[in-house]
Amino acid sequence: MTNATHPFDALMEITARPPDVFVRGEGSFLWDDGGKRYLDFIQGWAVNCLGHSPAVVADALAAQAKLLLTPSPAFYNGPSLKLAKVLVDRSCFDQVFFANSGAEANEGAIKLARKYGALHRNGAYEIITFEGGFHGRTLATMSASGKKAFEPLFEPKVSGFPKAQLNDLASVERLINDKTIAVMLEPIQGEAGVWPATDRFLRDLRELTTAHGLLLIVDEIQTGIGRTGKLFHHEHADIAPDIMTLGKGIGGGVPLAALLATEAASCFEYGDQGGTFNGNPLMCAAGLAVLRHVVAPDFLKSVADTGLYLEGELQRISARHGLGEVRGRGLLLALDLRVPIAGTVVAQAFDDGVLLNAPRPDALRFMPALNVTKGEIAAMIDCLDAILTKMGAARRVA
Ligand code: PLP
Repeated sequence: MTNATHPFDALMEITARPPDVFVRGEGSFLWDDGGKRYLDFIQGWAVNCLGHSPAVVADALAAQAKLLLTPSPAFYNGPSLKLAKVLVDRSCFDQVFFANSGAEANEGAIKLARKYGALHRNGAYEIITFEGGFHGRTLATMSASGKKAFEPLFEPKVSGFPKAQLNDLASVERLINDKTIAVMLEPIQGEAGVWPATDRFLRDLRELTTAHGLLLIVDEIQTGIGRTGKLFHHEHADIAPDIMTLGKGIGGGVPLAALLATEAASCFEYGDQGGTFNGNPLMCAAGLAVLRHVVAPDFLKSVADTGLYLEGELQRISARHGLGEVRGRGLLLALDLRVPIAGTVVAQAFDDGVLLNAPRPDALRFMPALNVTKGEIAAMIDCLDAILTKMGAARRVA
């Protein structure tokens, strides 16, 4: 093996990255090492819910770093106890297990459901998941995902994840048998291109799973912590799931995730679950700072309000350029471009200093900081409008 010569060569190539190196972030803005400023509507993939390096998170980290980093996952620590208490007080769940990534939280949810099946349902282990769903990149969570591109990878997969169609209750019903223990879904399929489950579907699913004695698992890694204008997305549908996973926004930019369960579903026994860094006080201190901010009076109302503004502006752009629907909720929205030009739009926006995401070739996804301003939205919309105008003109000339 040769020694790497370029600094980039020392990192495994897992995705195509632009050659810019990012050095600083503040609120809705990122700077690269050439001093160029970018208006960020990706925010670490819906992670930095309070923007880049928010003071509340930086201060909480600095204070905690001086006190205690990792006592041991086998000892209690203050920040994890406090964060778990806020989460259970604000949700329909009774207990929390902290993890370091969304995939790990989902892996925990899968294990918890299987454990429940072993204890209460004669070893039932199948978890019905959905075509288009995305639950992470561990072997089990890739298997649970309904992403076509994952299908040929890393065979054999983990078995026991039959796939239903989102918003089609009959497709779920058809898959239920005596091996089924749970149904697991994202309330909005984010990575697939922002495809929402309807509130009606979520309610029907709750009824169906209850009727069959199955667990309902909501993966709120992308939709949770205020992203759609409620603390947790399932609150829009007024349902109480049995298990929920959180990630991304919960740490406000640091690696933190959580698995929450009702008392009845929380059935791990000693030795079933754990991890060296799980629930470490440093990350939990950041999570506590984020959560206290997000549940402060009027914060979620302002997310809903800003989300409606962004939605309206995207609809205006869509009408002006003859594009498709705007879908999603709150500050997790997609604009359907109708034609596969999303990659070109994203590349041009990058050059123009605006960071956008294309989850599919024909759609743009918008997941700004939850405290993004209307002025910042207007600046992004102006950039997008100019790009689409130029591309429309180019298409007409061609
Ligand atoms: N679940 C959902 C809904 C996600 O959007 C993601 C990440 O995009 C994951 C799980 C995986 O989270 P992580 O990348 O932190 O492992």
